[in-house]
Amino acid sequence: MKALVYHGPGKKSLDERPVPTLAAATDAIVKMTRTTICGTDLHILKGDVPSCEPGRILGHEGVGIVQQVGSAVSSFKSGDRVLISCISSCGKCDYCRRGMYSHCTTGGWILGHKIDGTQAEYVRIPHADTSLYPIPAGADEEALVMLSDILPTGFECGVLNGGYSPAARWQSSVPDRLGSPCS
Ligand SMILES: [Zn+2]
Ligand SMILES: [Zn+2]
Repeated sequence: MKALVYHGPGKKSLDERPVPTLAAATDAIVKMTRTTICGTDLHILKGDVPSCEPGRILGHEGVGIVQQVGSAVSSFKSGDRVLISCISSCGKCDYCRRGMYSHCTTGGWILGHKIDGTQAEYVRIPHADTSLYPIPAGADEEALVMLSDILPTGFECGVLNGGYSPAARWQSSVPDRLGSPCS
C-alpha cells in the first residue's frame, strides 16, 4: 500500500509499505477513505516530537471502512463505515474509567506517533471497540473527519483553558449572599 512515512526532521516520502495485519484480538484494520494533515504532523516533520521515530507512517485522523476485526471486537464488523479517534483508548484502565482517555495506559495519542498512522491506504486501530465510532448512513464524511481531532481539541482547549464547567457556571450565577450549599 502507499503510505506517507516520516524519515527524520524535514524528511518524508510516499513509500510502499505492507498492508497492516491484526496484532491483537481487540484490533481492527480500516481502509482509509479520508484523512487530514494536522498541525501536529507538521510539528513532527519539523523535528519537534522526538518520541516519533523515523520510519513511522504519519496521521492520526480519518474516516474509513472496516476491513477486518479481531476476535474480541464486538461493536464493529467488516464493511462498517467508521470515524477514527485520534486517541486510542482501552476503556478499562484507571485513566479511561475516569474519562481521561488520552492518558490510557495502553493507548492515548499513539496513532502516527508510537504506531503507524492514518496517512496510508490502511491502518491498524488498537482497542477498536472504544477507539472507533460508527458513521450513520448518508452522513457527510468530509465534515465528520473534523471530529477525529480538530473539533474536540478546540473544544477541550477552550473549556479547560477557560476554566469553564457546568459547576463553575452554576456557582457564578448564584448571588454571593446566598453562599454555596456545598461549602
Ligand atoms: Zn490532529
Ligand atoms: Zn485505557
